[in-house]
Amino acid sequence: MQLSWSDEDEAFRRDLRAFLDEHCPPEARRGKDFMGEGVDGVPDWARAWQATLFDHGWMIPAYPPELGGRHATPTQTLLYLEELADQGIVRSVHFGGYAIVGPSLLEFGDEAQRALAPAAIRGDTVWCVGMSEPDAGSDLAALATRAVDDGDSFVVTGQKVWTSYAPFADMCFCYVRTDPEAPKHKGISVLLIDMASPGIEVRPLRHITGAVEFAEVFFDDVVVPKANLVGERNNGWRITMGSLAHERGGLWVEGVFGAHRALDGLIALARRRGLDADPVVRRRLGEAYEQVSSLRSLGYKGFAGFAQGSSAPEHSFMKLATSELRKQLFELGMDLCGPAGAVVDPARAEEDGRWWKGFFVALAGTIGGGTSEIQRNVVATRVLGLPRA
Ligand SMILES: Cc1cc2nc3c(=O)[nH]c(=O)nc-3n(C[C@H](O)[C@H](O)[C@H](O)COP(=O)(O)OP(=O)(O)OC[C@H]3O[C@@H](n4cnc5c(N)ncnc54)[C@H](O)[C@@H]3O)c2cc1C
Repeated sequence: MQLSWSDEDEAFRRDLRAFLDEHCPPEARRGKDFMGEGVDGVPDWARAWQATLFDHGWMIPAYPPELGGRHATPTQTLLYLEELADQGIVRSVHFGGYAIVGPSLLEFGDEAQRALAPAAIRGDTVWCVGMSEPDAGSDLAALATRAVDDGDSFVVTGQKVWTSYAPFADMCFCYVRTDPEAPKHKGISVLLIDMASPGIEVRPLRHITGAVEFAEVFFDDVVVPKANLVGERNNGWRITMGSLAHERGGLWVEGVFGAHRALDGLIALARRRGLDADPVVRRRLGEAYEQVSSLRSLGYKGFAGFAQGSSAPEHSFMKLATSELRKQLFELGMDLCGPAGAVVDPARAEEDGRWWKGFFVALAGTIGGGTSEIQRNVVATRVLGLPRA
């Protein structure tokens, strides 16, 4: 058993650190704090940073250079994700394009559509992903936005909701119903929709933090060329699974390292407020440390399986466990602040509102990308083999 990184992997990490020291702007070192503040369009620094990562082969390291990578191995990809998470660095302020749309176009698109992938990954084109609707969230296959065949084009009518980045996206990777008669998983297709098309209305929605990042999107007889259909018509369901296969083994890293950063912050906060000798606070911090450490070990165990090509059931559990833990940690942070924990005025709140903002962002983390209840169902049926309720 080898419990250290190889010389080659250590050299990879050194190169990455040198690159980050030289190029990473301070704004990118604020981790998920952006979610608490929202982004009112893509800031210039974020555009430049994503492009720099791409141009130096550090955007998606496992990809070839023309797609922003450097043919990194799975272990190197893990090191990369760890280093970014450890330093609290974000690659982009809009993950849909590089994490979902780019990889899906490469896997399912035709030649013209695959040619759109580099700009999606580099962040030159901003994408939103239109899946959820008012009556289709956890049960995504219930989606009702319809696309009617009209010769050379489809005519799209319906509504999406919670669509991240829609207020400033150039394009939408949109799930639509093309066959209302077919069983619900079978009549779905994916269309690439230009957000400047006539008939689209975007109504921004506010997060509980006050930030605007997602929106309702209304489609009223929007004409979409047939060339924008991705893959086969009525076969869009299989594209819902498309995402960064190379990074799947390391998706837990951000959750675990983010929790660790929060824990370090809690210990500093407890010391500052003279609570570090309080037995209840010490017990809660100790329990949090134990949970973060256990999750880190579980993540590595799953990664070892993933790197050897087997499935990693541990990872089904990681999204659930890390998002719920994050919520607990930030709630503890609000408790440690005392009455000031409830103050939301950034000028007066403890640490610029880090704890209450983090708590609300953590709540969103237990919903987006599959709610905790749904994740528990997945663990129960697919990992533990229990019967469906
Ligand atoms: C920050 C954020 C960003 C998002 N960005 C996007 C985006 O870019 N694009 C997009 O398409 N969507 C996006 N979403 C939407 C997200 O995917 C949905 O909110 C999520 O899938 C849940 O769907 P819903 O909100 O319709 O809740 P529902 O599915 O209506 O669920 C309501 C409640 O019922 C529970 N529930 C539902 N079904 C079951 C079941 N079978 N068993 C047990 N409990 C159940 C849920 O856990 C939840 O508590 C985003 C959400 C958030 C919070």
